[in-house]
Amino acid sequence: MPDPNGFLRYDRRLPARRPVPVRIMDWREVYPPAGEELTREQATRCMDCGIPFCHDGCPLGNRIPDWNDLVRTGGWDAAVESLHATNNFPEFTGRLCPAPCEAACVLGLGGQQPVTIKQVEVEIADAAAARGGLRPQPAPAPTGRSVAVVGSGPAGLAAAQQLARAGHAVTVYERDDALGGLLRYGIPDFKLEKRHVDRRLAQLAAEGVRFRTGVDVGVDVTAEQLRAEHDAVLLACGALQGRDTPETPGRALRGVHQAMAHLVAANRVVAAAGEGQPALATLPDGTPIDAAGKHVVIIGGGDTAADCLGVAHRQGAAGVHQLDLYPEPPADRDAARDPWPTWPWVLRSYPAHEEGGDRVFAVAVQEFVDDGTGQVRAVRIAEVTVEKVDGRRIVTALPGSEREIPADLVLLAIGFEGTEDQPLLAQLGVTRNGRGAVDARPDWQTGADGVFVAGDMHRGASLIVWAIAEGRAAAAAIHAYLGGVGTLPAPVDPARQPLAAR
Ligand SMILES: Cc1cc2nc3c(=O)[nH]c(=O)nc-3n(C[C@H](O)[C@H](O)[C@H](O)COP(=O)(O)OP(=O)(O)OC[C@H]3O[C@@H](n4cnc5c(N)ncnc54)[C@H](O)[C@@H]3O)c2cc1C
Ligand code: SF4
Repeated sequence: MPDPNGFLRYDRRLPARRPVPVRIMDWREVYPPAGEELTREQATRCMDCGIPFCHDGCPLGNRIPDWNDLVRTGGWDAAVESLHATNNFPEFTGRLCPAPCEAACVLGLGGQQPVTIKQVEVEIADAAAARGGLRPQPAPAPTGRSVAVVGSGPAGLAAAQQLARAGHAVTVYERDDALGGLLRYGIPDFKLEKRHVDRRLAQLAAEGVRFRTGVDVGVDVTAEQLRAEHDAVLLACGALQGRDTPETPGRALRGVHQAMAHLVAANRVVAAAGEGQPALATLPDGTPIDAAGKHVVIIGGGDTAADCLGVAHRQGAAGVHQLDLYPEPPADRDAARDPWPTWPWVLRSYPAHEEGGDRVFAVAVQEFVDDGTGQVRAVRIAEVTVEKVDGRRIVTALPGSEREIPADLVLLAIGFEGTEDQPLLAQLGVTRNGRGAVDARPDWQTGADGVFVAGDMHRGASLIVWAIAEGRAAAAAIHAYLGGVGTLPAPVDPARQPLAAR
């Protein structure tokens, strides 16, 4: 019986983040481990409320009260078993998930702070890894069927693990030189050190998953060849088509880049340093892209923008401004707009924000200003209001509000427009919908029979927890398509949406 009064005895507490002056000198993770005592204390705050809305908040349906109580009572081995029953990679979500489960925690109903669910999750996963508890679970017998997974992000990897454990021969194709999708070269090490990704990849390899890196499917291998070699294909190619702003004057100036160009270059430098190879942050064509000594302007307010901010601090930027089109959100949930247990619109500050930089809300760039040599020297911004009219966004600049912000490096982190239009799609006869995503039938098949889709490629740019949930569900559908014995868990269907007030 869980402790019904734990939340009355203990306040919500997270481990202290590493001090800012220390952590911006390196690329290591911001949070140190919480340790057993704090984790147990915080797990005790879960009262096992009886109708755990956190289950619905989590797309994976993680059995949160179960593992909270197991941690409280010291049952760490059973806790990780319970966690792995619904989540292939809790060390990724425990570090990176925005935790919609916490927004849905029943403690929030009574005005209490939610349980630190994702922190408990990561501690369980890390403790298991430290004890050597991420042992491979190879299938007892092969089925003789084979599956190609295109893309090695969390969706592709979750599906690959589920299918390999069910006995199918799985090959993951990845066009990058290293595996992990956005976990590898998109998300910086200060949020996720890559040893966690490598440890899981070793587990998958030991379970029989074959990996082929440096293979751009549709270019290096045709879709026809892939279909001839495999009984089913899963597309998990992500939603990497960055939104741009070609209409803004000065967009073509040197120094104005997509955010991902900056992040990938920086992450590659960190990866090379880990192998003892000094490297410069450059674009694929060799152009340097580094924030050292520069005035940086980041346009956008989400995860990507915050990651650029943290990278700019670590590269030694002279100053950073982060611009957001929308007004500053409130500090607390507006219950009329976003009632519990839905995901609230509130001001979200990432650890990168406490490291420095200025956030400017309700502004839009009017022009990237030329220094006379074709290099950006400033951005001209105006204060704006944003309205939705017939589903369209109308941005109105306030007259007389324009001003300049110095800028040597401008990073566009204004979202993604779905999956890239690439040869693979035409070869398969698969088309993108109006959002740039690929539709799935209720059984996760695309318009092409035997070709399935999961993750950001289906959902549009989203979250790791959704990618894993869709990867698991698509694996279950592929297993059924291949006539596999029994069923695999399918936490979501293709139409599933986050919790919302109706
Ligand atoms: C900068 C940034 C920070 C983020 N931070 C967070 C966060 O903190 N928390 C969170 O929950 N989410 C975060 N996200 C979102 C999260 O990373 C994605 O939702 C998730 O990675 C999607 O997983 P996926 O497997 O669908 O695709 P991806 O991770 O995008 O992987 C797709 C893979 O497919 C490969 N591929 C594409 N086409 C081909 C082809 N033809 N042949 C072979 N390979 C191919 C790509 O190279 C890529 O490796 C962030 C996203 C970005 C961009
Ligand atoms: S995966 Fe995300 S939503 Fe699910 S329990 Fe973990 S932190 Fe919460």
